[in-house]
Amino acid sequence: MKIAYLGLGIMGRPMAANLVKAGHEVTVWNRTPKQVEGARTAATPAEAAKGADVVWMCVADTKAVETVLFGANGVESVLRPGIIVVDSSTIAPRSTREFAARVRGKGAEFVDAPVTGSKIGAENAQLLFIVGGPEKTVAALNPLFSVLGKKVIRVGETGAGESAKIGMNLMIASIFEGFAEALALTGKLGVPPEILVELIQNSMIRSGVSDYKASFVLKNDWSPNFPLRLMLKDLRLMLDAAKQEGIELPATREIEKVYEKAVAAGHADDDYAATVETVKNL
Ligand code: NAP
Repeated sequence: MKIAYLGLGIMGRPMAANLVKAGHEVTVWNRTPKQVEGARTAATPAEAAKGADVVWMCVADTKAVETVLFGANGVESVLRPGIIVVDSSTIAPRSTREFAARVRGKGAEFVDAPVTGSKIGAENAQLLFIVGGPEKTVAALNPLFSVLGKKVIRVGETGAGESAKIGMNLMIASIFEGFAEALALTGKLGVPPEILVELIQNSMIRSGVSDYKASFVLKNDWSPNFPLRLMLKDLRLMLDAAKQEGIELPATREIEKVYEKAVAAGHADDDYAATVETVKNL
């Protein structure tokens, strides 16, 4: 297939590389010029998307998706019937539905396909796609999902993927906050962190989050797999969606404050695991 890949950050770059590896004809674009071996590089989103069968995005946030689609030299100017636009960014479900309606106005299709699995999942093609959109369009993307990930779960219609994704990140942020607070408390009480981790990993507390993050935490390695600024963005997406739906998320609201303090302490571009440092010093 002819694929335009827009956004070559921590997640987008390895996804684009895996599409090239699978033999697809890939054209890439990134705001700050970057290249992917074996792919053509375009100067604008519109140039990348022209003539593509699928336009796949993975950019930072809602504003970035809006700019890539509808800004100057955006994808919208070259949309035509038959193109499928796929968004693997984590953004507001409500905006996703608005963007999809605008894309469909041009005769193209839209699928929200946010992911979980982080940097290592993107590199090793082990992502889980959390998908919203028409069944037929999602099915047409299966050959591409199988190149990029290990599983696709279609949650429902447009926006449902993003809705489920922010719920999953709510769980990740909550589990990790529990880990960070347990480390802070037991550290003060004299429990060595590696012993706490050994206890967690041998008990029912163990989780994918502790499996992935514990070794980084024990080394104080805050190099970004999932940058803290992006988890803060997601916490705000959760709180905004909760407000729209008229419900309270008391723990999430408190966790947002921790992330705001972490950003103020200079951890925005570190991994969200750096909140361990922030929680220790609250
Ligand atoms: P990242 O490394 O920070 O990359 C962000 C990308 O967005 C870069 O290509 C950046 O371009 C681009 N961008 C930012 N603002 C833009 C704008 N206004 N217009 C156009 N492009 C813009 O982030 P990432 O980790 O790849 O994450 C990408 C998305 O996937 C986010 O929505 C994130 O929440 C989600 N996600 C991430 C992970 C993870 O573990 N990292 C896991 C699941 C989902 P520049 O290079 O020019 O800055």
